[in-house]
Amino acid sequence: MIDFNATKCGASPFLPQKCMIRAITKLAQDNYLFEVQLDNKEMFANCKAGQFFQVYVPGSGEAPISISALSRKNCLEFCVRKIGRVTSALFQTKPGDWIGLRGPYGNGFPIERMEGKNIIMVAGGLGVAPLRSLWHSILDDRAKFGKIVLIYGMKHSQDLLFRNEFRQLIQRHDMEVFVAAEEINGPSIAALDFQIGRVTDLLNLAHFDQEYVAALCGPPVMYRFVVDELKKRGLHDQNIFLSLERHMKCGMGKCGHCSIGGHFACLEGPVFSLAQLNFMKEVVECHGPSL
Ligand SMILES: Cc1cc2nc3c(=O)[nH]c(=O)nc-3n(C[C@H](O)[C@H](O)[C@H](O)COP(=O)(O)OP(=O)(O)OC[C@H]3O[C@@H](n4cnc5c(N)ncnc54)[C@H](O)[C@@H]3O)c2cc1C
Repeated sequence: MIDFNATKCGASPFLPQKCMIRAITKLAQDNYLFEVQLDNKEMFANCKAGQFFQVYVPGSGEAPISISALSRKNCLEFCVRKIGRVTSALFQTKPGDWIGLRGPYGNGFPIERMEGKNIIMVAGGLGVAPLRSLWHSILDDRAKFGKIVLIYGMKHSQDLLFRNEFRQLIQRHDMEVFVAAEEINGPSIAALDFQIGRVTDLLNLAHFDQEYVAALCGPPVMYRFVVDELKKRGLHDQNIFLSLERHMKCGMGKCGHCSIGGHFACLEGPVFSLAQLNFMKEVVECHGPSL
């Protein structure tokens, strides 16, 4: 087990920082939001929307988890789906417990390139977790950006994450927000204008054109269809950004687990422009001719 006391700035970059879990909130079945205190102010200041941390649960190991929000008093929010060994162990923790964090890693969304532009964000399923950190950054500095469209789709309405936040976003007059599920059932969705369908159906309802910059995060199958729609509207490949999930271990471009088309997704990604991906043969083969 890792000796947290040895974890200090300047120590091995593989050693996680000891961080306390402040709060745990259930968002949906098997999807929890963990608020974690990051006392290292330097690490916190370096965090950017779309980046991720290696989250270490003592005795279970590490898993890469995206920053879902940078919240009050140096806290980070991670929206986690219970999948396997590490995430199941994380679900056993309670507020006041300690975990380890290494990071932030990856490039994040190119928010500087988005300034002054109209933006469309498309989230599928758990992809809403990293995109949330992007819309927070944009809304924190709303005047710096043009029009905003936010689209969020999921399979079942009971999988909706950040229900209360979406209720508030839908009320805003300075952005267009669309939410859809392929099947609507389960708990009350009152006050949330849910559509039945997929994110591609929502794209047809949204007002946007070739002048928009797009940020996408969702399952690989979603990318193919969303990219097709965006390209039909004339968006340029260099203005379409996708966050790619690859198996990752070190997060620092050393182990090679996340190598994709000769690039390290942990270092150069996880966010790539479509223009970059067009040159990565492996991605084209995995995700079809549109990518
Ligand atoms: C950059 C990045 C950001 C991520 N952000 C989040 C997040 O915000 N929230 C969240 O819940 N999850 C996120 N994930 C996914 C998460 O890291 C994996 O689900 C992780 O494997 C969970 O660890 P585990 O030990 O619980 O599962 P494991 O026991 O490692 O794996 C369970 C199963 O999932 C498979 N698997 C694991 N990772 C992947 C992968 N990347 N692609 C395909 N199959 C995989 C394994 O082969 C195994 O079958 C992210 C992944 C990456 C690379």
